Amino acid sequence: MTTNTNTVDSSTTVWVCIDCAATLANAEPHPDPVLFDAGCEGVEVTLGMVGDEHWDGCLVFPLGEGGVREFDGSHDCECEQQGFSWSSCDICRSPLGGSRHAVTFFHVDNDEGN
Ligand SMILES: [Zn+2]
Ligand SMILES: [Zn+2]
Repeated sequence: MTTNTNTVDSSTTVWVCIDCAATLANAEPHPDPVLFDAGCEGVEVTLGMVGDEHWDGCLVFPLGEGGVREFDGSHDCECEQQGFSWSSCDICRSPLGGSRHAVTFFHVDNDEGN
């Protein structure tokens, strides 16, 4: 198995299929839990994206003073959803077209390297 080992910071925003999003929301089990578990290996996975990843004009994470974003739960935003995409799911690798949902990978690799 070849793996792309990108050098990343502590968190990465990736896009996953509706099955993986539902699994992460504890709404329903994944249809292929083996692939799901493999895709989550070595990372902590959280549904949604960190505030900094939202669009600058986003109403849910408006840019406040000093460039600090503050969560505003009174709005909805669409930053964390793509209506339709053919890009494969970043967790289970499903190539099926459909909506894609933002999740954040927090890297918990203990091996700091170098
Ligand atoms: Zn947003
Ligand atoms: Zn998936």
